[in-house]
Amino acid sequence: GPKLLASADLPFSHPDLGKSKWDLDTPALCLDLDKLDHNLKAASIPLQGSGVGLRPHVKTHKCPDLARMQIAHGALGVCAAKLSESEVMLENGINDVLMTGVNVTPAKIRKAMELRKKHPGFIQAVDNPQNTRDLQEAAKAAGIVADVVVDIDVIRRSGIPAGQPALELAQLVDKSPNLRFRGILAYDGGVQHVMGHEARKTRCLKTFEPVVDTYHLMHAAGLNMEIFSGGGTGTYDMMHGIPGFTDVQVGSYLFMDCQYLEIGGAKNEERFDDFEAALTVMTTVVNTNHPGRLITDGGSKAFTLNKPTGWVIGEPDFVYNAGSDEYGTITYNDASRSYKVGDPLEVIVPHCDPAVNLYDIIYGIRKDRVERIFPVLARGKSQ
Ligand code: PLP
Ligand code: MN
Repeated sequence: GPKLLASADLPFSHPDLGKSKWDLDTPALCLDLDKLDHNLKAASIPLQGSGVGLRPHVKTHKCPDLARMQIAHGALGVCAAKLSESEVMLENGINDVLMTGVNVTPAKIRKAMELRKKHPGFIQAVDNPQNTRDLQEAAKAAGIVADVVVDIDVIRRSGIPAGQPALELAQLVDKSPNLRFRGILAYDGGVQHVMGHEARKTRCLKTFEPVVDTYHLMHAAGLNMEIFSGGGTGTYDMMHGIPGFTDVQVGSYLFMDCQYLEIGGAKNEERFDDFEAALTVMTTVVNTNHPGRLITDGGSKAFTLNKPTGWVIGEPDFVYNAGSDEYGTITYNDASRSYKVGDPLEVIVPHCDPAVNLYDIIYGIRKDRVERIFPVLARGKSQ
């Protein structure tokens, strides 16, 4: 199996343990453990008593150790995007994995069934009838009954259209002897970053109307609706208003990023501060030869090209451009700011999920010191 590095819950030594984050070689990806603890707890607060749970999406962190912490905080299981990412989780002790993407090639379908044979908690998604027949054949060949959810189309990216097509697909799964229908997925990716909590909630509930109608159709047809999963960080506190809904696929809530901090929350319309910005990149100033301009060692290979560009902690007026591969360019107007070559800067990432995929490890930091190391075991697992 893909056990590439020792899991951090085993004794895992690393030369940087105990170091100050300000002394780390850069660029370095850091996770504030006190903020992480807050985020782990905060996501379930608005859901208490609603019967809706969390099935966090590991595409954000790609670390079995963080998945384990999410489960310890009450998650029903996790979601994974791809088969190779699912495999890393399942092979590293995460037993309940719902893969939100589809497997369409014969090789992937075969491998998915092997994984399901070994790990009974693996659930697969399907969004078209031919793929369902292919899964049935492969499950039969593997000698198993595989667990399947139907993905319902919300953003014209994946999924089968809501209504009759979705109902018929669910019925096809249900009557396939080697498949077990477990319920539905619906991810409203276009709603997650709508600015303002009220506007987002209105859009979210409206967008989900056809999905809810489909849920009722399926329920009336006597199908097993034990899973109705969807949503994300931007809608985590609104999904429990949706009939039949069972769990929110929150991903970014664990780390946060500039994109999410900007959208506004229920308590604070200026800043979405339900969750704390726990994930940062430490960079180093490498050139100060031009006034009003600092060059750092963190470019697109440290941050990705996502907008808005990173926010330098403590320097709200700095504009950070990570447009070159290996260099960041900070521009500023305040002549009183003086940094010299070699100075470290801490920057909040624009978009957490693709940024994590750039690093082999995440430094777990408490009170500025490296307390533990999270190997990003599913780094690059986009197959
Ligand atoms: N579910 C699916 C299918 C996704 O693609 C994503 C992220 O893109 C998520 C959940 C998690 O979303 P977020 O990071 O916004 O919480
Ligand atoms: Mn994302």
